[in-house]
Amino acid sequence: MHPIVALATPPGTSAIAVIRLSGEGVIDLVDSIFKGKRLAKQVSHSLHFGSVMAGDEVVDEVVVSLFRGPHSYNGEDTVEISSHGSPFVVQKIMQTCISAGARLAEPGEFTRRAFLHGKLDLSQAEAVADIIASENESQHRLAIKQMRGGYSDIIESLRQELIDFAALLELELDFSEEDVEFADRKKFLDLIQQMLTAIEQMICSFQLGNVIKQGIPIAIVGKPNVGKSTLLNALLREEKAIVSELAGTTRDFIEDTLQIHGIQYRFIDTAGIRETTDLLESKGIERSFEKIRQAEIILYMADIQASVDTIISDFQSFSFLPEQKVIILLNKSDIGDSNAQQSDSKEVVATLSGRRTLEISAREKRNMDTLISVIEAVSSEQTKRFDFIVSNARHLEAFQQAKASLLLVQKGLQEKMSGDFISIDVRTALYALGTITGKISSEDVLSSVFGRFCIGK
Ligand code: GDP
Repeated sequence: MHPIVALATPPGTSAIAVIRLSGEGVIDLVDSIFKGKRLAKQVSHSLHFGSVMAGDEVVDEVVVSLFRGPHSYNGEDTVEISSHGSPFVVQKIMQTCISAGARLAEPGEFTRRAFLHGKLDLSQAEAVADIIASENESQHRLAIKQMRGGYSDIIESLRQELIDFAALLELELDFSEEDVEFADRKKFLDLIQQMLTAIEQMICSFQLGNVIKQGIPIAIVGKPNVGKSTLLNALLREEKAIVSELAGTTRDFIEDTLQIHGIQYRFIDTAGIRETTDLLESKGIERSFEKIRQAEIILYMADIQASVDTIISDFQSFSFLPEQKVIILLNKSDIGDSNAQQSDSKEVVATLSGRRTLEISAREKRNMDTLISVIEAVSSEQTKRFDFIVSNARHLEAFQQAKASLLLVQKGLQEKMSGDFISIDVRTALYALGTITGKISSEDVLSSVFGRFCIGK
């Protein structure tokens, strides 16, 4: 493919800049502007010191790295020029490369070539974009997992089995007059069931994948004045929420993100939810309920001085969803320190609610470390539910399409429909799955995937 060139490091001034070239004849091309050892005679994966020349003029002293295809990132002959990181020098070297026959790369073109040369499948190539864009440890971990193969292998093996069945079905069509069945319907149904289970798991994991990318939502819930805003402040260590002695000052909800050991959380402090006639406030309350429903983790707060009955009945009035992880916080443990009854009430609440219960003092920042480790433990339980996490909307859509078609195949098999009807849906399912790994790819898909990259990748 035509030699392309791009700056692989961020634009601006830096100690070193890397200009990357790849494509056919790229080694000769760089030889023509490089004064040093002749690169064409050097082995792959080697470094060479020399100068980039624009005619007789030395542009910069550089180190050139040589990678011969197919043993390079994208499978093509690749040269990386490490120069001094001045925008002027970089510009000049790029111009020199272009005069020598290279053209400027489009965004993601290096990786697109890696895909075209079979170095990466499409979902892995997308993971490369995610790695570049990742802003925290959990996003990064997710992207690395996907790049190393992630669920591509599973999809490919399921797809292969389905292809084998599809072939048998097609064969039956050739013998349609003789009314034979090559494809064992029972085995076929088993396979479809197995595929549906795997695909449903992937679809389910999407919500979590998205959550990890954007931050795990944690709602802080409880009666007015129990200390929700104070807790949020303590966690965020800044005065974001307005703390007040008056009930219900947090009208709507306050949301803020916090990274704990590389995992991103979105904390939501909801309005003090209670009966109200104030229209504005009731709107806020509605939105708060919505936020509570979306939360993965709930921190339910109560005043430790309240009676156990009050706490339990208030707790039950929220009807949290079964999949939500709820941690009960009995706040203001600093009041009446010596009161032994407090610890008893913790036991009672824990027993009655069947939930993890923690005594804290948001104002005195007591037991905050324990709370944070409980949050971490709970959120890692959530992520461990899945072997693979789908975090890409394009993949989700493909899985949903595949699922819909496989359900039709299943129905067709159960209703003993003829092979030609079934094979249409099999093909649609195969197509949908193929678009994930790029076994089937249209120009549109490729452009939208690689367009997300920066130039130079
Ligand atoms: P919210 O309505 O649930 O958000 O409650 P706030 O955070 O506004 O707190 C209500 C009142 O309780 C404020 O006066 C806080 O200073 C007080 N408060 C909050 N946490 C504690 C605590 O741990 N101990 C004590 N003694 N007071 C607290």
